[in-house]
Amino acid sequence: MTTETAYAELVARLKRSHVLGTVNGLLGWDEQVNLPPDSADLRAEQLAVMAELQHAAASDPRLGELLAELEGRDGSPAFAEASAGRPGKGTAGPAVPPYQLTADQQVVLQRARRDYDRVVKLPPEFVREKARHNSQTFHAWADCKARSDFAGYAPFLQKQLELAKQEAAYLGYAAAPYDYLIDRHDPGMTAAVIERLFAELKTDLVPLMREIVSSPVKARTDFLRGFPVAPQREFLRAVTERLGFNYRRGRIDVSLHPFCEGSGADIRMTTRFDENNPLNSLFGSIHETGHGLYEQGLPLEHQGTPLGQAVGMGVHESQSRLWENQVARGRAFWRFFEPRFRETFPAQLRAVSSDELYLTVNAVRPTLIRVDADEVTYNLHIILRFELEKRLLAGMLVVADLPAAWNALAQELLGLTPPNDREGVLQDVHWSGGMFGYFPSYCIGNMMAAQLWHQVRKEFPGLEEDFACGDFSRLLGWLRRQIHAQGRRHDTQELVRVVTGEPLTPRHLLHYLRERYLPLYRA
Ligand code: ZN
Repeated sequence: MTTETAYAELVARLKRSHVLGTVNGLLGWDEQVNLPPDSADLRAEQLAVMAELQHAAASDPRLGELLAELEGRDGSPAFAEASAGRPGKGTAGPAVPPYQLTADQQVVLQRARRDYDRVVKLPPEFVREKARHNSQTFHAWADCKARSDFAGYAPFLQKQLELAKQEAAYLGYAAAPYDYLIDRHDPGMTAAVIERLFAELKTDLVPLMREIVSSPVKARTDFLRGFPVAPQREFLRAVTERLGFNYRRGRIDVSLHPFCEGSGADIRMTTRFDENNPLNSLFGSIHETGHGLYEQGLPLEHQGTPLGQAVGMGVHESQSRLWENQVARGRAFWRFFEPRFRETFPAQLRAVSSDELYLTVNAVRPTLIRVDADEVTYNLHIILRFELEKRLLAGMLVVADLPAAWNALAQELLGLTPPNDREGVLQDVHWSGGMFGYFPSYCIGNMMAAQLWHQVRKEFPGLEEDFACGDFSRLLGWLRRQIHAQGRRHDTQELVRVVTGEPLTPRHLLHYLRERYLPLYRA
C-alpha cells in the first residue's frame, strides 16, 4: 500500500464517520423541531443505534492500522529509504521521489490520531447507554422543568453525572474529570486556566455591572408589544441573509431552545418567536447565524476531516457572539437596519426615538434566566455554572444540594434569588444531555469575540462604516480566512494567539463593555 492510497482510505473512513454523525445530528434536530410528543421512546432508540454505528465507524481497527501506517511514513528518512526500495527500483531513469504527506495532511493525521485514541477507549455498550440516557433525560428535564420539579429530575441528573465521570475515567482522567469534560468542548483548555480567566474577569465585571445597573438611565420596554410573528420572520430572514448566511445550504425553524446543528453543506438553525419581544428572536437568530456562518465557512474540500471541522465550542461561541453583540448591537448596524425595522413595524415603533430603540437593544438588567441575559451580566451566569460544575465533578457538591447552591450563587453574583427551580437550576438543557464542561465555552467565546473584534478593527479601521451601508463582507471575509478556513488546525488558545498575537485574555471584553455601555448609561 502506498502512502497515497493509505491516506485516501483514511480520509474516506473519516468522511464516512462524519456522515453518520450528520445523520445523528439531523435526528437530534428533528427531535427538537418536529417530534410528536409520544414518539420520544422510538427516537431514543434511533439515536442510540446511530450513536453505536458512528462509534463503530470511528473506532474501526482499520482506522488504527492506517494511522499507524501513515505515522511511520510521514516523510521521515526511514520512509524515504523504504519507498526507494519499492517497485521501480533498478529501472532506468530518475528515481520517483516518495509521496510525502503535505502539511495539511499531517494536521489531519495528528487530529485523527487524537480522536481515534479517545474513541477506542469508550466501550460500545457505554456509548449506547449514554445516547439512550441523553434522550430520556432530555424529555425528563422538559417535563420536570414545566412542573418546577427538581426532585423528579434529580435521579436522571445523578446518572448523567456518573456517566460523565465514567467517561472521563475511560479516557484516563479519573482524577480530573472536569478537565476532560472541558477539553472535550474546548481542546487544550483546563479548569485551572478557566478559573484564572474568570477570576480576572469577575473582579472588574461585578463593579461594572453595578455601575450600569445603578444608573438612573433605564431602557424602555413598554413598546415591545404586539409584533406579529410573520413580519418578524421576514425581517430576521432579511437580516441573516445580509450578514452572509446561505439559505441554499441551510434553513431556520422554530424550537423551544434556539440552536444550530449541522455542518458544511446543511446547516439547521432554530429560533423562537414572542409577539411581545421581537428583539429576542432577532438577536437569537443573529447568534445562531454566527454559528451557521462558521460552519458554512469551513472548507468544503476538507469536509469530514479535522480540517473541515470547528475547533470547539469556545471558538464557535466567539463567532455567534461577535455577530450578535459586537456587530448587531452596534450603532452602525442599526444605522442600516433601523429604517427597515421601522418600515416593517411602523405602528409599534411610532412613539420610539432612535436613541430609545438603541438603548433598548442594549438594555442591561440582571435577570434570573441566562438566555435572556444581556451581554454584561451574561458572563456572571456562566461563572455561576462553572463554579457548580466544578464542585459537582470534584464531589464537593451532591445533586440534592444543587438547587440551594444555585440560589446562593445567583444571589451573590446577580443579586437575585430564583423563586422556583424552573427559573433556577432547571432552566438550562445542557446537563440533561450530559454536557458538563460546555458552559465555560460561552464565556470563552465572549472573551475571544472581543479580542477578535479588537484585532479586526485594528486591521480595518473603517470597518463599521461598511455595516452602516449594509455591507458585512469584509468582516465575514476576515473571519473566513482567520478562523473558518483553519478547521481544527489549532486548539482554542493557540488559534487566539495566532490570529491576535496575544494569549486569550478578558481584558478586551472588559474594555469593549466599558466602551459600549458606560456612555449609554451615563446620566
Ligand atoms: Zn451559541
